[in-house]
Amino acid sequence: MDFRLDDTLEAMKLNVRNIVKNECLPLEKQYLSTPPETYSYGGHELPGGLAEERLSFGNLPLDQWKRLEKISKEAGIFTMHVPEEYGGGGTGALGHIVVDEEVRRSIVGLPIAEVPVMMYGSSTQEQVDRYILPCVRGEKGYAFAQTEPQAGSDPGGMMQTRAISDGSDWILDGTKMFCTGGGTADFLLVQAVTDTNKRQHGGVTMFIVDKNMSGLSFAPIQTWIYPGKAHQYFVYLDGVRIPKENILGDIGQGFLLGQKWLVHQDRLLRGSMALGIMTRALEMAVDWAKTRITFGKPIAERQAIQWMLTDVYVDIMALRDMTRHTAWRADRGEDVRVECSMIKYCAGEWGWRSIDKIMQIFGGLGETMDMPIPHWYHSLRHARVGGGTSEIHKFVMARGLLQGRIAWEG
Ligand SMILES: Cc1cc2nc3c(=O)[nH]c(=O)nc-3n(C[C@H](O)[C@H](O)[C@H](O)COP(=O)(O)OP(=O)(O)OC[C@H]3O[C@@H](n4cnc5c(N)ncnc54)[C@H](O)[C@@H]3O)c2cc1C
Repeated sequence: MDFRLDDTLEAMKLNVRNIVKNECLPLEKQYLSTPPETYSYGGHELPGGLAEERLSFGNLPLDQWKRLEKISKEAGIFTMHVPEEYGGGGTGALGHIVVDEEVRRSIVGLPIAEVPVMMYGSSTQEQVDRYILPCVRGEKGYAFAQTEPQAGSDPGGMMQTRAISDGSDWILDGTKMFCTGGGTADFLLVQAVTDTNKRQHGGVTMFIVDKNMSGLSFAPIQTWIYPGKAHQYFVYLDGVRIPKENILGDIGQGFLLGQKWLVHQDRLLRGSMALGIMTRALEMAVDWAKTRITFGKPIAERQAIQWMLTDVYVDIMALRDMTRHTAWRADRGEDVRVECSMIKYCAGEWGWRSIDKIMQIFGGLGETMDMPIPHWYHSLRHARVGGGTSEIHKFVMARGLLQGRIAWEG
């Protein structure tokens, strides 16, 4: 058995690592110390801005983000994970998580094309041209709207947003919540119930809702993950008229399409996200422990500190093997839905406990906001909730075990 990455992927990994080291890490201080821009878009008004607004994520000026995007494009990183038929590098899931881990080592994320995987293979040619290809070029951004005020862990059972057919159009009514990037996206992928009897078993449809459609409005939700600028939104759909050309896939297929997105984007990639953060945080903690002196010795010489460092190391090594193996299996066309729940669960639980230990090793410095550590703490604490809570993913795993759908004997 050869567990190494092949030569191409290894070279790409090292290339991204170098670019992140040379271009992103030097910007971290500026990213963390510049006062955030303030936006006053109360009520249901659109914050406006679209692509430019999306790019000004974090506290760096727009020209810095554009420069990083150019570097990413020129190095062939920006679209390396996109299937070849849409003009990308076709590295598959394994390539995606390997590169994503490197990108996540810096709190200043090197831009990578955000393309909704649920649209691959389910879009009409017109949808490819209008939505997929602009995302591949970095000209359009999207958001996924499933969660509602009454429907979080049980979206299929509790979803209230309805779509009623009206001639060849559909009329959408409802409220979505916690939609990341909703207010700044160019289009939203919105799930709505089209058959109340079937619900998640063929009664939910995915609609592509353009930002400028009449009856669509937003209100920001401030979470602790992105201080200074909200990235989550309420999305209000008030009689939004959607032409049938904006249905993604078949009517009633929307729940499955949402799951396809969640399994890759919110579960598998949660593993690489946690890995990038944990790996860099451990590097920082090792360096720090060697130089911080108390009672006449570096703290690295204390067993209490060594045990925290090794705990984080063990979590990293186990999570990396699990994530790479699952991505490799996904690329072979295997059903890895339950394994992705396992990754999501471990990324959240282990990532959170690891960053807590790193914070402890840094003492008071670990809580200062011009260090990435508290921000990483928020992200990894959120990883226990967003994309399905740890409890729900344990439930998914238990169902797999009890129904004999997953193997564990090795
Ligand atoms: C920052 C952020 C970004 C998000 N981005 C998006 C997005 O882009 N798009 C989107 O659609 N959604 C998004 N979400 C929503 C997110 O996916 C939900 O918050 C999450 O799935 C949990 O749902 P809930 O908040 O309604 O919790 P609830 O479902 O109300 O759960 C509350 C608690 O009960 C527990 N629980 C629920 N059911 C069970 C059970 N059967 N057994 C045991 N325990 C149970 C849960 O684990 C949790 O601890 C985001 C949320 C946040 C905070």
